[in-house]
Amino acid sequence: MRLRPRNVRSRLTLWYVLVLAGLLALYGGVASLFLFLSLREDFDQNLLEDLETVEGMLAKEPNGLVALHSSHPGAAEPRIGHFIEVWSPEGSLLYRSAALQDQTLGGRPGPDEGLHDPTPSTTRLPNGTRVRLASSVYHVEDQRVVLRVAYSEEGLWRELGEFGEVLLLGFPIAVLLAGVGGYALARKALAPIDSMATQAKKISAERLGDRLSIENPEDELGKLGTVFNGMLGRLQAAFDQLRRFTADASHELRTPLTAIRSVGEVALQDERSPAEYRDVIGSMLEEVDRLTRLAESLLALSRADTGHVQLQREDIPLLRLAKEASSVVEVLAEEKRQRIDIEGDADLLVSVDRLILRQAIVNLLDNAIKYSPPGSRILVRVQRGGDKQLFLDVIDHGTGIPSEHQPYVFDRFYRVDKARTRECGGAGLGLSITRWAVEAHGGDITLESEEGHGSTFRVSLPLAKYSSASQSKGGSQ
Ligand code: ADP
Repeated sequence: MRLRPRNVRSRLTLWYVLVLAGLLALYGGVASLFLFLSLREDFDQNLLEDLETVEGMLAKEPNGLVALHSSHPGAAEPRIGHFIEVWSPEGSLLYRSAALQDQTLGGRPGPDEGLHDPTPSTTRLPNGTRVRLASSVYHVEDQRVVLRVAYSEEGLWRELGEFGEVLLLGFPIAVLLAGVGGYALARKALAPIDSMATQAKKISAERLGDRLSIENPEDELGKLGTVFNGMLGRLQAAFDQLRRFTADASHELRTPLTAIRSVGEVALQDERSPAEYRDVIGSMLEEVDRLTRLAESLLALSRADTGHVQLQREDIPLLRLAKEASSVVEVLAEEKRQRIDIEGDADLLVSVDRLILRQAIVNLLDNAIKYSPPGSRILVRVQRGGDKQLFLDVIDHGTGIPSEHQPYVFDRFYRVDKARTRECGGAGLGLSITRWAVEAHGGDITLESEEGHGSTFRVSLPLAKYSSASQSKGGSQ
């Protein structure tokens, strides 16, 4: 059998009821104890007062015994329920009240009894009645007697019992009311969770735009809902990006494939000379090249996305890396009679993955070549940017990028002028790969450009740890 309640609401109520029951029981116990102590104090007070009253009423009888006499009949009459005994110190009984019905209040007195201030104590009569007893020594005329006065404690226990009954009767009612109230409160407090769960169940990949409705964004559940909605927002953005990426990638793949097919189909329609066939094959290979580059870029980006790229860092002068990158694109620049100038401090070291960062610079140079007029000059400059940074600027004097496009050029598949850039062979992935590579090395990339006046891409990278030492050594030479 399952004892643990399944839902939070019942568990909260159960805990609430248990704690309340415990507190009530504790409260009942403490209250009963206080009541008992205060009742008994009153009881003892009365007992001691009555002890004095009875002392004043004792009178010696001619037969040597003792009797009780009241100066005003009925005035200080000992209360009903009083038990009185008077003993001589030698142990002979001088008086016993009728209420005792021949039972003794404790037998012959001991030698010390009643000598000190009277302190009430509890004892039992032979018939089992619990009594509160006080005794004192007194002189009746010239005879020394031990006087004992006792009350039955029954009244005290009865009052206590009645109090206990009231408590016991109220206890289940209080617990029941607390349980019902607690359950209702818990239900009301947790109701937003139910509604959130129902709404969350309906959210699927197709409905990622839905959000949980939040009644009060300030309370705990409201905050939870806000966090959940935030997470949905991020998921939606990631999903949208993925969908766009897939759609763009398929589009980019389809274009060269369509070109290959139509070139092939046209070539097959008629008999052609070997030179013409060679031309057809040449243009097919061009498209295959484009496909290969695209596939490589996609692969690089998907590796970057999954975070599977392990950077093989080495300390290397940034200027040397720029020269290596420039030699990769040298042929392209020569084709357009462009000049790539590289300047800067050869001692400035970066700790980077050589191949990945070189590709990032190649992409920048490739763009600079593509989007600059023939015969123009491209400048690569390496310099320090404060104590901890290095800047690598790639500056061209080409078409520039209109300011409305600048925020998006690092996005995947983003091209400023689709028709023109496709002719140049770009798929809009180069800058996004470059940005990933730079950021993976703890740097960032910025763009400054004016339409018609060229562009400057600035890569900032952290200086390698000990390059400042090597630089000061270099500087002193
Ligand atoms: P692509 O492979 O098409 O060049 P990139 O991601 O490298 O893709 O660049 C994105 C777009 O930014 C390009 O299509 C081009 O329009 C623009 N762009 C990039 N670099 C330059 C530049 N140096 N001068 C002018 N436009 C540029």
